[in-house]
Amino acid sequence: MARIPKDIIDQIYHTADILEVVGDYVPLKRNGQNYWACCPFHNEKSPSFSVAPAKGFYKCFGCGKSGNVVNFVMDVEGSSYPEALRALAKKYGISIPEEEERTPEEQLRQNERDSQYIVSNWAKDHYHRLLQNTDEGMGVGYAYLKERGLNLGTIQTFELGYSLDQWDDLLKAAEKAGHQLKYLEKTGLVVQRQDDQGQDTGRRYDRFRGRVMFPIHNVSGRVVGFGARTLKRDDKMAKYLNSPESDIYHKSDVLYGLFQARQAIRHEELCYLVEGYLDVLSLHQGGIKNVVASSGTSLTEGQIRLIKRYTDNVTVLYDGDAAGIKASLRGIDLLLEGGLNVRVVLFPDGDDPDSYIRKVGDQRFADYVENQSQDFIAFKTTLVAREASADPIKKAEAIREVLQSIAKVPDGLKRQVFLQQTAVTFGFDEQVIITEYNKLLKTPAAGRSNTPPTTPTPAPASRPADSPSALAAANPRPLTPEEEIEMAMYGVTHGSEEEASQLAGPTAGLAELAAPLDVLTQCEQAVLRLLVLYGPHEVQPEVSVAHYLLSQLDGTPLQNPLYARLWAECREAFLQGQLPDLRLLAHHEDAAIRSLLADFATERYDLSPNWRIKDIYVPTELNLIQLACDNAILRLNKCHVQRERQQCLTQLQDNQLDSNEQLNVLLRYNELTKLDGQLAQMLGTVVARNS
Ligand SMILES: [Zn+2]
Repeated sequence: MARIPKDIIDQIYHTADILEVVGDYVPLKRNGQNYWACCPFHNEKSPSFSVAPAKGFYKCFGCGKSGNVVNFVMDVEGSSYPEALRALAKKYGISIPEEEERTPEEQLRQNERDSQYIVSNWAKDHYHRLLQNTDEGMGVGYAYLKERGLNLGTIQTFELGYSLDQWDDLLKAAEKAGHQLKYLEKTGLVVQRQDDQGQDTGRRYDRFRGRVMFPIHNVSGRVVGFGARTLKRDDKMAKYLNSPESDIYHKSDVLYGLFQARQAIRHEELCYLVEGYLDVLSLHQGGIKNVVASSGTSLTEGQIRLIKRYTDNVTVLYDGDAAGIKASLRGIDLLLEGGLNVRVVLFPDGDDPDSYIRKVGDQRFADYVENQSQDFIAFKTTLVAREASADPIKKAEAIREVLQSIAKVPDGLKRQVFLQQTAVTFGFDEQVIITEYNKLLKTPAAGRSNTPPTTPTPAPASRPADSPSALAAANPRPLTPEEEIEMAMYGVTHGSEEEASQLAGPTAGLAELAAPLDVLTQCEQAVLRLLVLYGPHEVQPEVSVAHYLLSQLDGTPLQNPLYARLWAECREAFLQGQLPDLRLLAHHEDAAIRSLLADFATERYDLSPNWRIKDIYVPTELNLIQLACDNAILRLNKCHVQRERQQCLTQLQDNQLDSNEQLNVLLRYNELTKLDGQLAQMLGTVVARNS
């Protein structure tokens, strides 16, 4: 798609009113400076979704979704960045002069795609008319749908249709309606007739004949292809025939029913995944509207990304036969890898979701799904454990299969729970399972593709209660009042480097929960946050926050790649005379940076209620901006000093140095210890150190 010109993007951001846009979806109530509503992204009874109109950001304190007006449209509509911009431009009557921006080839391609959308939409209408307005459509197509229990409402919602059992019905109708043959061919609605040598004979015929037509919509509701079921009893004929891949139809990026299901998926915070068109239709009609089908293909990464736009929770509804289950286990691993929470429901032998809901009725079906759904890993464990039964070799193989699924789960804490469950199901000691799991991780094929899973250790409960890491995680030291204020002002979470490294060391699984960011990252975040939020403000007359931070930290590059990128961009802009402007940065092209900025802008620094009760004057961050900057700079420097000091210590303990090297390291170590003490003093915090 053509790029939207920069000045138009600016115009969209400046015109779009976040209150107005959000207000189209949820009713907002003012409370203080912000507006509140029940979150449109997760189910809740009391409002934790806030909009800060002055900053142009929203944030949900329940589910954590946050961003600017464009992010909101992306999230709520499940659209891409340019799609969201276009939607806002349309709402505010801003025209996008894209034709001039495009090369002739791009224009041509866009026209080609548009033409394919148009012809697909026309064909959908044509098939839909035939279903209800012809004897054949009524007698064959409609009769079949009625027999399957589908009512007119469902037929309309999903725009079902029927193709006449003729070679050229669509061809003729298309010609009459003025559609070009080439688009009928490109979308696969019409097929070339070839001779014995595979040469085009110049003749054409309809692909779909005598079939019930299921239009396939993309997320924005445009028809991109068709699924078609024959009603003839002919073994040589495929029961289902689908549109081929085309410029507008990529099987692996489409889920059948998602367009009709997306609001319900978001509202229920759950997506049911079924196999066939009729499963989707029957469940939707039965009141279960949050249902989609992968329709024929095995699940793809593209489809999983699509689901993830709306929810993290998927329940897979299976036909009851064992072969089918075995075949789909791999697809489910893909769901786990995508970070989704996966549950499964099995239907009694011989039933699929469609036949079962017709057999037992809507309410009993809903109850069944709710009561029978079980966590996928637990389900797989039971399944393979039962198969392996008493055979020790099979059992070892079965455990490895389960562990392979567990390795796909990105969340460390969840992995631990699953490992515990596996130990229980197979009747092994947990440590045995963990050893086996760690062995498995060393074979490259098992792990997840990008980040290797952290090595889990026994759950906290099985560790001696007085071990330091267990204590650090379970009972964080209570904060002193000074620290509370400091935290409130600087947004830096407390915890010494030592505590953090203990957590990040042997108990990484636990640390993911207890210390979401390491100390260095926190310190880097603090300086970056000040830079983008307060860049143009002055610390001293004629010296801006941006100037101050950038010059003070010129020799201290940020380690976190995302932070470093944003820092470098701000620095570059500053050197060209521009100060950071949150409003402009808000439409950064990088989604990770946009999300980071949203967090900076909307984070609440809630002071302990004690401070309000005692009526102690708490200066705002801006009142004390120089102090805040100094504090953040010192902390970051201190963090680097401590890290290097720790490295020296490790080198000394390793005993690998010759005496000369040893002396040098020792000198550096002492130097750093002194520096650390000085920095601590400057920070005004007293550090008691026994090392
Ligand atoms: Zn929420």
